Amino acid sequence: MLLSSLLQTVGSQQKAQEILLILHNQKPLLRQGYYESELPPIQAFCSQHSLHLVKSTFKVLLDDPNHFTNKGIRIPSTDPRSGMYFIYIAKDEKTAYLASYHELTNNHHDLGLLLGYPPCCIDFFSNHFNEQHTNLEHPPANPWTNLTLREKDICLLSHFPCSSDCEQSILLAQKYYATLEQVDPTYAKEIITHLNI
Ligand SMILES: [Zn+2]
Repeated sequence: MLLSSLLQTVGSQQKAQEILLILHNQKPLLRQGYYESELPPIQAFCSQHSLHLVKSTFKVLLDDPNHFTNKGIRIPSTDPRSGMYFIYIAKDEKTAYLASYHELTNNHHDLGLLLGYPPCCIDFFSNHFNEQHTNLEHPPANPWTNLTLREKDICLLSHFPCSSDCEQSILLAQKYYATLEQVDPTYAKEIITHLNI
């Protein structure tokens, strides 16, 4: 499947990449945010491809919907304000449900492990992420762990690496890149060119 058709369904390169990686067994689980109105095509895609999708029981109200942000407050799904749902997609149903449970109970550690994030980066996130400090980006040192173009929808990783040189994160990004290159070489080349600062 070409990335372009996935892109039309999910509306973002980073989201399309993640779904592709699930389909190719390179990722065990993904967690993405969507508004209710955006969900039907994703749900249809998942059922067509035997992927399990679980939706969070709450919505997240972003503090600034016009800017890329990592911050937000939880509101009940019955709240009339427009909030984003988290969805968890996996080939394995239990993994998707467990992810939603870990998020609900704020268990970032176990959620991170389910998502396949390196333990060193999970610890880094647990120790440094808080209300005042929500952007844990490092100055870029290589294309693999470069998160600085996330706002432009160009990035290989879905987690904050503990450092730009984190070996496990670099290996993950290289593994993801290899799949992208196999599926759509032109797209992959474009991404890596941008990330190569
Ligand atoms: Zn790390």
